[in-house]
Amino acid sequence: MGINLETPKKFGVLINQAHQVSTEIFRPISRKYDKAEHEYPKELDMLASLIDGMNASGGETSTGARGVRRKDSDKTNVNGGNMSGVLSIIEACWGDVAMVLSMPRQGLGNAAIASVANDEQLARFDHTWAAMAITEPGFGSDSAAVTATAVLDGDHYVINGEKIFVTAGGRCDSVVVWASVDRSKGRAAIKSFVVEKGTPGMVVERLEHKLGIRASDTATIRFTDCRVPKDNLLGSPEVEVEQGFAGVMQTFDNTRPLVAGMAVGCARAALDEIEDLLKQAGVTVDYDRPAHTQHAAAAAYLQMEADWEAGYLLTLEATWMADNNKPNSLQASMAKAKAARVGVDITLRCVELAGALGYSEDSLLEKWARDSKILDIFEGTQQIQQLIVARRLLNKSSTDLK
Ligand SMILES: Cc1cc2nc3c(=O)[nH]c(=O)nc-3n(C[C@H](O)[C@H](O)[C@H](O)COP(=O)(O)OP(=O)(O)OC[C@H]3O[C@@H](n4cnc5c(N)ncnc54)[C@H](O)[C@@H]3O)c2cc1C
Repeated sequence: MGINLETPKKFGVLINQAHQVSTEIFRPISRKYDKAEHEYPKELDMLASLIDGMNASGGETSTGARGVRRKDSDKTNVNGGNMSGVLSIIEACWGDVAMVLSMPRQGLGNAAIASVANDEQLARFDHTWAAMAITEPGFGSDSAAVTATAVLDGDHYVINGEKIFVTAGGRCDSVVVWASVDRSKGRAAIKSFVVEKGTPGMVVERLEHKLGIRASDTATIRFTDCRVPKDNLLGSPEVEVEQGFAGVMQTFDNTRPLVAGMAVGCARAALDEIEDLLKQAGVTVDYDRPAHTQHAAAAAYLQMEADWEAGYLLTLEATWMADNNKPNSLQASMAKAKAARVGVDITLRCVELAGALGYSEDSLLEKWARDSKILDIFEGTQQIQQLIVARRLLNKSSTDLK
């Protein structure tokens, strides 16, 4: 059975709700919190409780990052937690990407926990808001270069190291930290640990000032002899050298489609806005006539729409594969590369098409152009996604093709 490209009907209510949240909650406060960088959008607390309630009511319509857990199922052609997560994130990012990144209990660390935690850990960390801390001062793209260490001492791991650019690192309740349990064993020894805020030795040192997603905090966190219970290691504690770091990397297969969905949502916002502005200027887009016979702005719109559709469909494909327990590293990287790149292109092109209005703070177009750029950087840059795609297609290892 193949993929059905229609949006699954059962998610209609969820999509509508997320769209309403965007229109009624996110958009009206978008500009305010973009300007008030580092101020927590307190409106999100109520919304997060609502989402907790929806998730607690069960079913497959879990929203956001926590729906990525893969389930063993003998059914085929399933649309489950990954699909509902991505579809709700697309709608919510149509409202505001930074708000979505600031939603309590919907952090990328929550997606990591959902992806690799055992059932006991999943229950124990159910109510946490978890950020994801991989990047260090010495590396960004090369995630095998982790220098933070986690040394077993009795019933605890003792973590030392510095993590930078941790999204929601200031506001979250806990951080999923990548650290090596034995640096002599290379990448296979990199494991992820849940470290709860308030654990002695964990200090949030500072927050970044940024181009976009300003309502989302980005923190530097230092770990000095920080003792965490050994049961907070996610996945297997064994160092299996031949397996590489497949264990921790598995998270990306679930989170990259989410980030691709963020780009799809943000780009859609810009497309919808520009379509309105063009209409007001007397330019209508005709889908039944060749683009080159139409107004230049309408032709530009059609080209953007086609690019957007490609990003959207790749995102759905990677997500659908996750729900159906199919290996999707290739498709997750393809989706992230395409959606994030066209997200940047489309949002900036819409600024251009709207002229002075696009560049001014009277419209959200300039904000979306700033917000979309990060989606092509974090969870693996454009170049890294292309490298992964090339390796997979050419059957090359990370040593063959760097
Ligand atoms: C706002 C923000 C939020 C973030 N949130 C998080 C977070 O929550 N958790 C976290 O762990 N990290 C986070 N990051 C870090 C982010 O994941 C890294 O910035 C990203 O991985 C890129 O790393 P780098 O900045 O060190 O760039 P580099 O790795 O130094 O790359 C610089 C440039 O070189 C290119 N490049 C690198 N290697 C290759 C190669 N082999 N071939 C071709 N080109 C290459 C890159 O694509 C890029 O264009 C965040 C960053 C920002 C800015």
